[in-house]
Amino acid sequence: MREAVVGRFAPTPSGRLHLGNVLCAMLAYLSARHEGGRFLLRIEDLDVPRCPRRLAQQAIDDLEWLGFRWDEPPLYQSERTEIYVRALRELEAKGLVYPCFCTRAQLHASVAPNLGDTQVVYAGTCARLSPEEAGKLSKLRAPALRLRVPDEEVAFTDGLCGPQRENLARDCGDFILRRSDGLFGYQLAVVVDDALSGVNQVVRGRDILSATPRQIYLQRLLGYPQPDYVHIPLLTDAQGRRLAKRDKDLDLSELAKRMTVKDILGMLAGGAGLIEEPRPVRLDELVPLFDWAKVRRDDLRLPSGLGQEKP
Ligand code: GLU
Repeated sequence: MREAVVGRFAPTPSGRLHLGNVLCAMLAYLSARHEGGRFLLRIEDLDVPRCPRRLAQQAIDDLEWLGFRWDEPPLYQSERTEIYVRALRELEAKGLVYPCFCTRAQLHASVAPNLGDTQVVYAGTCARLSPEEAGKLSKLRAPALRLRVPDEEVAFTDGLCGPQRENLARDCGDFILRRSDGLFGYQLAVVVDDALSGVNQVVRGRDILSATPRQIYLQRLLGYPQPDYVHIPLLTDAQGRRLAKRDKDLDLSELAKRMTVKDILGMLAGGAGLIEEPRPVRLDELVPLFDWAKVRRDDLRLPSGLGQEKP
């Protein structure tokens, strides 16, 4: 028998939800509900100063306004530090974690070939420190903790993007599990939370596709099952520019003034290919219509008039 789907939406409430988040929540929700599965909400507020409770509550209110319902009370990552510490201890016991004292400036001066705008391969400077050197440095500065990754490929098949593979050492490098200020990194937290919540289907933006091999590697080390992954197209404005949190006019505070719930959902469902033409629609009306085979694979352009400077 096929396992029942457990899906989730996991926003980072560092600002108001915007249309890209709503699209992601919508596809994750419909995919789970279409199969009669469960749907969970997790608030990824690890970076507490940037993610105040007020914004988390706003995200919850916005999702409820749009018609989303979840099957369990939302999890807050900011309340789960002890759980992440336990996972960290397991990795430490395997001898795979080492302290890293590099400053931001050193990291940028010593990077191996660039992986793009945001990701750089760590050159491994602190992996080579002797215990004595590490001991001395730790008196001067609190270290970050990194996971040592092997020169090994991780491969998986994404539900929309197809086969993916990455060599962890070459393409990604040893990555941070816990920052020097004590905050846990996204990779460890997301893997632990999905596994402990029984999530078996991860639907999220394509901007996170490249983090997935690291997460799969962590799952293997911690003995967790691997969920199915579907990385969805990103939204762009009418000019093809990626939406970002800075596009204030596409966050719900502005959109809610100009559009109804049914118009917002209908525009996204039409753009994503779930319905032929955008038309006002409720979330639950989309459940029986959902099919991943209908969902477009390219970035989705919003109609002009949205995401543009208002006169
Ligand atoms: N918190 C991440 C975000 O808001 C999503 C993480 C995930 O879905 O795995 O972009």
